[in-house]
Amino acid sequence: GTFRLAGQVAVVTGAASGLGRAGAIALGAAGVKVVVNDRPGAEAAAEAVCREIEALGGEAAAIAADVSSEQEVESLFAGTLQRFGDLHILINNAGLQRGARFQDMTLAQWRTVIDVNLTGQFLCARAAVRHFLERGAQPEVSAALGKIVCMSSVHQTIPWAFEANYAASKGGVSLLMQSLAQEFAPHRIRVNAIAPGAIRTPINRADWDNEAAMDQLLTLIPYGRIGEPPDIAHAIVWLASDFSDYMTGATLFVDGGMTLYPGFRGAG
Ligand code: NAD
Repeated sequence: GTFRLAGQVAVVTGAASGLGRAGAIALGAAGVKVVVNDRPGAEAAAEAVCREIEALGGEAAAIAADVSSEQEVESLFAGTLQRFGDLHILINNAGLQRGARFQDMTLAQWRTVIDVNLTGQFLCARAAVRHFLERGAQPEVSAALGKIVCMSSVHQTIPWAFEANYAASKGGVSLLMQSLAQEFAPHRIRVNAIAPGAIRTPINRADWDNEAAMDQLLTLIPYGRIGEPPDIAHAIVWLASDFSDYMTGATLFVDGGMTLYPGFRGAG
């Protein structure tokens, strides 16, 4: 197959910051019309991402919605169809952390993380799948009926003390993604995930914004550097394109080797 992204429409959730922002800009630069979603309150940052995409010659529109709200997700997707007339790609990216010692973790902290990171991906994937099925094949546009990329984490695999809600949400994302991939492969809807390691964004600022923290972080990363948002954006673009057409149900670990059990290498 060929690359084939220009002219397609994508929704990127949580795209006002970090990995979603980088993915939205990279898709926009590839000619995709991008809906830059983020939560209500982040409108200014979302609009700024749209202006960056337009400066690269692309098209973008900001639509605020809390991905954990069924009603707001419904209007996000209705607004996308109203603005751009179709939908081909969902980047299920919005996510957050609410860490706590487990014995102190409140039900509110647990629910916030599960509601946004897992239920948010359910609601957005359901809306996207409904549209893909209703619209039908467009072989001149893409080999697939539609493409969904779920933002997971190395913590779908690596247990994470003091972040039990987050690790549980990403473990859930992994089997949600695989189950959707199995259910919809016959319809040629491709569903894959990206599992980033440590990427420099606001979500983990405390892990990289001073030298001691960065030194500690680097002990976990065999490749010897923190990840940068474009490292993930390039994987997003590839998974959205027909270059990955034979891939579904897969998780791409983009982590500088964090999942290679670096402690077993010894001092070398
Ligand atoms: P970030 O905090 O920079 O960006 C997350 C964005 O999601 C923010 O703009 C935030 O406003 C938005 N968001 C939060 N709740 C929302 C909601 N209810 N509805 C809509 N938008 C909402 O963090 P990031 O690092 O860019 O994280 C993006 C995704 O990548 C998350 O799912 C995160 O779990 C995952 N991830 C990040 C890393 C990393 O190292 N940065 C590693 C593994 C996984």
